[in-house]
Amino acid sequence: MSNTFIVSNRLPVRLDDAGKPVRTTGGLASALAGSGIEATWVGWPGIASEQMENEAQLVATLKESGIVPVILGEEIIDGYYHGYANSTVWPLLHYMIERARFEPEWFPFYEKANRAFAEAILDVVEDSDTVWIHDYHLFLLPRMLRESGKKLRIAFFLHTPFPSSEIFRALSERRKILEGLLGADLIGFHTYNYLRHFRSAVLRVLGVESNVGSVQQEQREVSLGVYPIGHDHRGFSKAMQTAEYQDALNRHAAELAEKKLFISVERLDYTKGIPQKLDAIRLFLKENEAERAKIVFVIIAVPSRGDVDEYVQLTEEVQREVGAINGKYGTVGHAPVQFLHRSFPQPELAALYALADACLVTPLIDGMNLVAKEYIDCKNESTGGRPGVLILSEFAGAAQELSHAIMVNPYDVTETARAITQALTMSDNDKQKRTLAMQDRLRRSDSSAWATTILNEVKAIPLTVREVNATTQFPMITGRVVKAVQEGGRASLFLDYDGTLRDFVSKPEDAVPDPELLPLFDRLCAIPGLDVAVVSGRPLEFLDQHFPNPALTLVAEHGYRWRRPDTDGWELVHEHIDTDWIDVVMPLLEQAVDLTPGSHLEEKQSSIVWHYRQTDPEFGLWRAHGLLAELTDVTASLPVAVHHGKKIVEVASQLVNKGQAVKALISDWHPNIAIVAGDDQTDETMFALELGNELDFVSVKVGDEGATRAKRRTDIRGLRNFLVQLSEELGTDPALKR
Ligand code: UDP
Repeated sequence: MSNTFIVSNRLPVRLDDAGKPVRTTGGLASALAGSGIEATWVGWPGIASEQMENEAQLVATLKESGIVPVILGEEIIDGYYHGYANSTVWPLLHYMIERARFEPEWFPFYEKANRAFAEAILDVVEDSDTVWIHDYHLFLLPRMLRESGKKLRIAFFLHTPFPSSEIFRALSERRKILEGLLGADLIGFHTYNYLRHFRSAVLRVLGVESNVGSVQQEQREVSLGVYPIGHDHRGFSKAMQTAEYQDALNRHAAELAEKKLFISVERLDYTKGIPQKLDAIRLFLKENEAERAKIVFVIIAVPSRGDVDEYVQLTEEVQREVGAINGKYGTVGHAPVQFLHRSFPQPELAALYALADACLVTPLIDGMNLVAKEYIDCKNESTGGRPGVLILSEFAGAAQELSHAIMVNPYDVTETARAITQALTMSDNDKQKRTLAMQDRLRRSDSSAWATTILNEVKAIPLTVREVNATTQFPMITGRVVKAVQEGGRASLFLDYDGTLRDFVSKPEDAVPDPELLPLFDRLCAIPGLDVAVVSGRPLEFLDQHFPNPALTLVAEHGYRWRRPDTDGWELVHEHIDTDWIDVVMPLLEQAVDLTPGSHLEEKQSSIVWHYRQTDPEFGLWRAHGLLAELTDVTASLPVAVHHGKKIVEVASQLVNKGQAVKALISDWHPNIAIVAGDDQTDETMFALELGNELDFVSVKVGDEGATRAKRRTDIRGLRNFLVQLSEELGTDPALKR
């Protein structure tokens, strides 16, 4: 049975006064509890190892309750958590580049912490387990787990926004972060905008193109998805059944008497736009003298990140401003703004939501914002809720879902002040209508539904299955070749040259066969019953010059021409290739060049290639998609294949490719076993051949880059050893000697 692991920076535990761990119910913990998903938590228990009185005992207690702790020392926590995660990455993810601190010594601690998480996880996971990683503290972890070689399903969810690539690329470690993330099988975001920015960063920083729903990585696909997180509907429903809730409801209702309550609830964070909200309140109070005594703005600001300077300064700024507003607009016995700098238990929060005439959620930017959803959910007449309306920043992720809120731009203080007036004068009927329009969907798409959806999706992803390692199979394949030939049958080898029979070098003209290769071919070609072909993209001149043995078949120019034994020099593989299509597609390709600076055309014997590597990557890709659509239309009835490759769009004659040439040779030679080996995209046409069950067809991809249709993989050395082995076995078999 496979297990599920939830990994987040903080564990859902706190240590009580005696230092004993007590389970807490944070958003994620209750999401999972509600979904019925059994999972093991992995995370940091919240204190540095130096401060643990008895580390071994704490670890043991946590493990007993099904929690895997990641133990971190003070220095790592400082650099990783307070430093890189919260002082560099957090502000940057929220577009606040001027608040981001770039300290080069922080990132190594971030790496170390991610490594510590990886080690803790790898200690407990087994093949086919699911690991779901949360948030910006652990960007490097997906790749670290992937590289361990364990067959895991890995999901990553980002709880913050993902910013425009223009902002993201300010991070020096941008490549490592994106590569780290792409170790996952599934990456989830709250909104489509975050996903789109991520794709654009992957394109601009890594040069990797993607689809809306996926990024192709070496041998696997990384799925991208939009999963807006829901609030803890079950938790709030339960909280509203408690005596504590009823108590708070009665108490606050009496305290407020005839006053209108405008509530806001948030962590004290600069992304939440508290100063801007206070500016709007100040403006409202200034312009509405008659309302000053009848309205209370309760601002619940949960203390957050007290160890980071920025947060200390913000707290002071907010306290000063609240004092100034009350000083100016308060009266004896009435302060229009109440600033509560602490956290409240769920029943009390629910009571305030239920009573409030309006909720002011005005972050400058927010990944989602659950308070907005909770407020709408708690508007329940049967549990004493009063009608109310949500004022919501258009820059909160939640704005995508809560379209019946009064939407504001939080930077526009006048607009927010006007929204306060609108909320104050809105009829109960209007408020109720707006609430009802959003409530059902919110309750259905709660946090448990969210967790269930993501886990179901990641569990449906097939485990990354590597092609069989051919190296271990070569003795068996050699045996099959020997048997075929011994029994009077035939065997064929089809071998690509560059990257398959020898390594790439920077100048292609230097990539001549090494001294061992030609004698090896001479030996192989001398074996009766064995046909050998080099199938290359090289021009015939190169192949002629470097492979003089006339018994060797040469296929040049990706299957356009060949030189076969016992024939007179080079011939076209297909005598009559229709090239009329060139006139049809050329105007489109030339237009693409004109419209796309940096792009150019390459004309080959049987194909035309539009290259866009030198263009702006996003613009080039956009043009490529446009061109592909046009080409697909106009070539529907033409004998061509349109192909979107690495920064190229190619229109090629359908007949001309390595696969077709190999197919023609196979029907000539009638082998019992055929082995094809190659390393790149052009070799895929050989791997994809379907030649019936009669033939023992062995496809081998050389190198571990890129997805492939070949059934096996090896490297250059592995293939070479196989060929040597084959020449020795067949060459020394007396039955096979001429
Ligand atoms: N919250 C709480 N007690 C409080 C104030 C807030 O439990 O005194 C909870 C609130 O119910 C909400 C969460 O804190 O679920 C805040 O989440 P949100 O998405 O609004 O903001 P974040 O803190 O994640 O930026």
